[in-house]
Amino acid sequence: MRERPRLHVVGAGVAGLAAALAAARAGAQVSLYEGAPQAGGRCRTVSPPGGFSHDNGTHALLGANPRALALLEAVGARESWIEPEPAGLPVYDAATGRLATVGLHPLDWLRSSLRPEGLGLADLPRLARLALPIGDRPIGALFAGRPLLESFVEPLTVAVLNTPVEIASARRLGRALRRVARPGGARLYVAESGLGPDLVAPALATLERLGARAATGARLRGVEGQGERLTALAFADRTVPLGPSDGVVLALPPAEIGRLFPALAVPEDYEPIVNAHFRVAGPERPRFVGLRGALSHWALARRDHVSVTVSAAGASVSDDPESLAARIWEEVAPALRAAGVAIGERGEARVVKEKRATIRQAAGPDFPRPRAPYRNLRFAGDWLSLLPATIEAAVISGEEAARDLLGRGAPRAASAPTLDPVRSARGSAP
Ligand SMILES: Cc1cc2nc3c(=O)[nH]c(=O)nc-3n(C[C@H](O)[C@H](O)[C@H](O)COP(=O)(O)OP(=O)(O)OC[C@H]3O[C@@H](n4cnc5c(N)ncnc54)[C@H](O)[C@@H]3O)c2cc1C
Repeated sequence: MRERPRLHVVGAGVAGLAAALAAARAGAQVSLYEGAPQAGGRCRTVSPPGGFSHDNGTHALLGANPRALALLEAVGARESWIEPEPAGLPVYDAATGRLATVGLHPLDWLRSSLRPEGLGLADLPRLARLALPIGDRPIGALFAGRPLLESFVEPLTVAVLNTPVEIASARRLGRALRRVARPGGARLYVAESGLGPDLVAPALATLERLGARAATGARLRGVEGQGERLTALAFADRTVPLGPSDGVVLALPPAEIGRLFPALAVPEDYEPIVNAHFRVAGPERPRFVGLRGALSHWALARRDHVSVTVSAAGASVSDDPESLAARIWEEVAPALRAAGVAIGERGEARVVKEKRATIRQAAGPDFPRPRAPYRNLRFAGDWLSLLPATIEAAVISGEEAARDLLGRGAPRAASAPTLDPVRSARGSAP
């Protein structure tokens, strides 16, 4: 009987989980290796001993993220992602203390109650220019002098691209907006309990059911290759030899790919995100509130805590955590109250600084995707997509890398080897 092909996936962030799931569902034997003590990467729930659990961010998905939603469906977690604000996004203006409700779909704006403040006729050609697949320019320049820039375009830009609006790429945002404009594309979803229970744990459980093996604390130190093939993965505590038909997906951030393959050019500029998390009695169902005219951009209130995001946080990432938490709470508490979100007294605060939250997504030519230097190797990660660097991009890249190696209708299948269904080398499991 012919053996199933084997795929080694290094990095158990969303891209690695997606690659492992795609391969396992296609019948491959899968070994998944994660360097950190837990899977999830930049999508994780943090549970310190004696403290309260919270995600690293206030991650949200849109209806415009079909591959991410399909992954959730495939691992039985789709129902756990709920719409916190189905009637429109509450947005609090910290300067005036006013609360508005903003529709995320352009058709919503036909109703004045859901229209972003400052939207005028002169904005329509600019919005159309943003959504059309034409040459790139910074988003800020496109909307210079328009009130809509501050009220809607800037918050949207930092939410989607995590890059200051003055330099952010209109073309990359446009790619996302064309998807948002599709029916259902503007619906906003969050994990009801958190990224760990509603994404990472169900993905790992599904992998286990499919016979995949996963190891945490397995940091890839280096790789060995011969000719056109990668022949071994060198982890901190062991070397995993690769069989002649084994494939490898490195689902790692650009800096790691650059370290492992110094000859490859990878993106070197990142943007930080700062998150503050407050232990506080919150609503039964999650609520999501936007802020303008404040350091804070979004607040996600859950049953026992509130998480707040400051995107494109270059100006505040070096600030002292205590003063950051104090300032953020001062902004967010009135915003939540204005939106009718019942919250109790503020308890413990925790600040999570992700210095390399995403690559910088500035206007200019798209960074050329580095080509893996071995025939049995592919790269995956949110940074490899032409879409904004998000969960959706990570899922797409992971699934495509796995399918490409396994030879199933993938873009680079012509040059990629089809894995011979031959038994993999001894000791290749994590
Ligand atoms: C605070 C924050 C908020 C965000 N909000 C949103 C949002 O609302 N919506 C959205 O769609 N996206 C959001 N994102 C972006 C989203 O989290 C990322 O796009 C996605 O998680 C990237 O997944 P990835 O697998 O490509 O990379 P990563 O998550 O970085 O995964 C790489 C994995 O490789 C591991 N690794 C690294 N080096 C090694 C090694 N040498 N050996 C073994 N393992 C290694 C890492 O530990 C990590 O687990 C947010 C990101 C942050 C940081």
